[in-house]
Amino acid sequence: MSEQESTSGHCLCGAVQWRTRGPANWQGNCHCQSCRRANAAPFVGYIAFPNSMLEIEGPLVCHASSPGVERGFCASCHTPVFYRAQRWPKETHLMAATLDDPDQFRPQADFHTEEALGDAALGKDLPRYATTAGENQP
Ligand SMILES: [Zn+2]
Ligand SMILES: [Zn+2]
Repeated sequence: MSEQESTSGHCLCGAVQWRTRGPANWQGNCHCQSCRRANAAPFVGYIAFPNSMLEIEGPLVCHASSPGVERGFCASCHTPVFYRAQRWPKETHLMAATLDDPDQFRPQADFHTEEALGDAALGKDLPRYATTAGENQP
């Protein structure tokens, strides 16, 4: 990932496109109930980038899923695209499933494993955090 000059992705219909420069802050899988339900998925892979490096174009709709939390999705096809929270004001957590190049997703940990949808959803060889990894990561 760190060698990548840029990373990009798009929603199912292609109306929403995102692009970044530079390396991701981190990559990981979130198992919290909110992410699972908002994405109707057993867990959600994220890539976090600094807001200053990120460009998102297209018809986005944002849903305030809880206080201080915003989830963005495509207004046309409803693909979830990003998560933002006041807790991490300087970065955006993009849904790894929207990557143009799927090989760029290299999760480093499983987060919120206390809420995981059973053991089957957990990565076998990744560090597990019952909630978050601390103050600076989800
Ligand atoms: Zn779309
Ligand atoms: Zn989550």
